[in-house]
Amino acid sequence: MKIDRNRLTRGRIFRTLCRRGETSRQELSDLLRLSMPTILQHVTSLIDDGLIKATGQFESAGGRKAVKLVPEGEIKTAAGLEITKHYVNLVLSDLRGRIIYHERIYESFSPESPYFERLGRIVNAFLKESGVPPGKILGCGIALPGNLDTDSNRLVFSHALGVSGVPLELFNQYISLPCLFVNDANAAGLAELRDWEKLPLVIYLSLNDSVGGSVFVGGELYQGDHFRSGEFAHTHLHPGGLLCHCGKKGCVEAYLSAWTLAKETGGQLDVFFEKLERGEGKAGLIWRRYLDDLALFVNSLCTAFDCTVILGGYVGGYMDLYMADLQKRMAAENVYDISTGNVKPCRSQRKPAALGAALQWIDKFIDTV
Ligand SMILES: [Zn+2]
Repeated sequence: MKIDRNRLTRGRIFRTLCRRGETSRQELSDLLRLSMPTILQHVTSLIDDGLIKATGQFESAGGRKAVKLVPEGEIKTAAGLEITKHYVNLVLSDLRGRIIYHERIYESFSPESPYFERLGRIVNAFLKESGVPPGKILGCGIALPGNLDTDSNRLVFSHALGVSGVPLELFNQYISLPCLFVNDANAAGLAELRDWEKLPLVIYLSLNDSVGGSVFVGGELYQGDHFRSGEFAHTHLHPGGLLCHCGKKGCVEAYLSAWTLAKETGGQLDVFFEKLERGEGKAGLIWRRYLDDLALFVNSLCTAFDCTVILGGYVGGYMDLYMADLQKRMAAENVYDISTGNVKPCRSQRKPAALGAALQWIDKFIDTV
């Protein structure tokens, strides 16, 4: 197939504009290492097509002020869902990856058809309430906690939802938009990585009610031979230890899921961290045990891969305050001279799996501008 280099360049320029939010022709030229005439040609055609606009000027320390270019972010949007055992997260994202509307609906998962009917009604009502005209919504990405086979269009298995062999069509049959599917931790990792510089190898560890992960090599998602890369949940942390819902004893999930903390406060993780801050009840003891287990597991990842590990998911969103404590615990267990500074808290904290699912459509659109 012949590669249309002109179109690729236009797509790269538009993608950069969408990611940065605002930039100048000179900055685009520097960032993308493209000549100024090439930038001028594409920027003019993107303005003519209504995809970007020139608005205002940047401050200048001297010389001519550069014109500010911004994408027409809401010319297209995309919906994203995160399906979990107890609720559904819904987001609507603009072309810049900003969440412009979001909601969480408490709806317990069931593999029976009334659930899928309700799911369709929830999504269609959400889209209507957002006020965004249907013609502006590209599609709906659906993030699921489990192993997906996109060739046969099946959810192969999901310990978190307690199902296997579910046709993906069941999820989208009542939704009024074209849908695509993505593993939840992969989606969350993709959303998170948009805020980071390109790194050679990154592991995103998703510390949600179910533990997951995604692996990025040179900025690209590495899916593995069977689409299972980054499935850390049921690797062993303490063999013979706590019983996991998969039936094995001592899995990572039994120690590092967000539920490990939130079950002490009726499922509310924010309340757990409030109690921790106030030094109330058993929160401190539970947290210290959790940090010990997290340090043990992250040390294993760092030892095996010698790369950046991003702590994401619900717990990752609270880690900022506790990184020094975690790193101290990691250093105490270090056999090699591993830099504990390679472990970082996530930067995006709101519904990353649902956003990552929506971004699948946004990226597809940007590739075709
Ligand atoms: Zn398990």
